[in-house]
Amino acid sequence: MEMTSVAAPVPGCESCAYTSGERRAPGGRVYENEHWLVEHVGSPWVTGTMVVKTKVHREALWELTPDEAGSLGPTLQTVSQALVAALGAERVWLMMMVDGSPPYHVHMLLLPRYPEGDLPAETAAALADAQRLVRQATDRLDKVDTENLSVRARIALLQGDLDHDKAVQAAGKVRDYLAVY
Ligand SMILES: [Zn+2]
Repeated sequence: MEMTSVAAPVPGCESCAYTSGERRAPGGRVYENEHWLVEHVGSPWVTGTMVVKTKVHREALWELTPDEAGSLGPTLQTVSQALVAALGAERVWLMMMVDGSPPYHVHMLLLPRYPEGDLPAETAAALADAQRLVRQATDRLDKVDTENLSVRARIALLQGDLDHDKAVQAAGKVRDYLAVY
């Protein structure tokens, strides 16, 4: 595939470093169009996970040009179709969490979900944790008369009973889980 030139990389930006070739993604670049680049990402993601990022350094969705925003949908459609057709994915998940340490660079992940039994261990564990948390919460609420409690009081009741670290960890896993849908 012919590589088109892109804007100068922003120092310290990991996404730009991969785009410029300073770093190389496992599997390398798999697709590009006028506004978007797609590369295969490495561990800990399941094989076939693709990062979809802007060619130009953009720090947030609200900074996309109308043309970039307009071509995002077709790009996601094209690449997700490829994951199904080429890799045998049953479903394709989409995740975007551009946050943490600046500089930010708009990118999202398309994760193939392979047929049952092929769930990556980390995903399966996160799902099990989330289900356990919901069960614990349901059990706890069953033991008290919640008819006369406000929603706020019910939440406080649950929060007070959970170990903080576990709650933070579980919430993160649930959040990650929800983010891919
Ligand atoms: Zn960048």
